[in-house]
Amino acid sequence: MNQPLQRHRDELMSEASQVPVFLELEPQADPGPVAAELARQGVWFSSVGAAGRRGFQLQPHSVKCDLGALEAIEGVAAVYSRSSGRPLLDAQAGQPVLVAGRPLGGGAAPVLAAGPCAVESRAQIEEAAAEVAAAGGALLRGGAFKPRTSPWSFAGVGRRALGWLRDAADRHGLAVVTEVMSEGEVEAVAEVADLLQVGSRNMQNFALLGALGAAGLPVLLKRGMAATVEEWLLAGEHALRGGARGVVFCERGIRGFDPSTRNLLDLGAVALLRHVERQPVLADPSHGAGRRDLIPALSRASLAAGADGLLLEMHPDPARARSDASQALLPAELRALTQDLLPAEVTT
Ligand code: PEP
Ligand code: MN
Repeated sequence: MNQPLQRHRDELMSEASQVPVFLELEPQADPGPVAAELARQGVWFSSVGAAGRRGFQLQPHSVKCDLGALEAIEGVAAVYSRSSGRPLLDAQAGQPVLVAGRPLGGGAAPVLAAGPCAVESRAQIEEAAAEVAAAGGALLRGGAFKPRTSPWSFAGVGRRALGWLRDAADRHGLAVVTEVMSEGEVEAVAEVADLLQVGSRNMQNFALLGALGAAGLPVLLKRGMAATVEEWLLAGEHALRGGARGVVFCERGIRGFDPSTRNLLDLGAVALLRHVERQPVLADPSHGAGRRDLIPALSRASLAAGADGLLLEMHPDPARARSDASQALLPAELRALTQDLLPAEVTT
């Protein structure tokens, strides 16, 4: 409650109401019909009265509603709302983020980003790039630097792999998305990337988020495995405040209780980001499920929920993959999936 309530202004009228909103009643108004109209609009609210003002408090997570329409309800004297605390994301809402000149989100056709978990060799990423292009992909993914739970696991080839990734992408007309794990690597990664990936484990690494701006690139912000949507959005606000040229969110599953899948792909969050927050959002069913057999169904579900694209792991030879082998699609599986899913202009 440290921000003053403000009378809403015209520019707020068409925006989603995701911040607390207070409807003040006219002094003689009967609250009954106003409450009935709010219920009819599907808004969640509670009745409040203090300091001589009677009215309704709308829940911060209430459904999207037009503040102007609320003010027009008979008996409502005024509508007050608080600023969202995410002014930079608010400015991005409904707009596409440009990735190598291509619009992502904001109503643009869904895009495919695909490739191996890790860039392992020049030959591997070259073969992967050819397959991604054949499947209609727009972006080639692959980590040169890999965050691994165990310090003994393969952690990526490092800087050498960045050049292989860029060369392979260029040969097949693809853009590059790859992870940057620390502030010290921003410059090197930015030299080859079109979209800077911030991994789940770094979602709230505020020093890193603040340092990304120097690259002059958009950011792909993966959701932390125990992050609320609000924390995720605010991490995006950090990146924008640091100077990032747009933030694309990526749902990759949160920690669940059931080991049947690696994570719990939160499609409710995808729908919320797309339809309520109006932010560009990709879904990553590969890390969400951790197993390749579920990727087609979860990809379909992600697009149905509103995802602006998919981030998929595919390896030319999954049996030899040095990380995330069980969730890597075979090249033919990727092709079959995209033919089925993405619009014709993307897959031709
Ligand atoms: C990845 O994309 O390979 C990756 C490490 O993802 P996440 O940060 O979501 O675990
Ligand atoms: Mn991976």
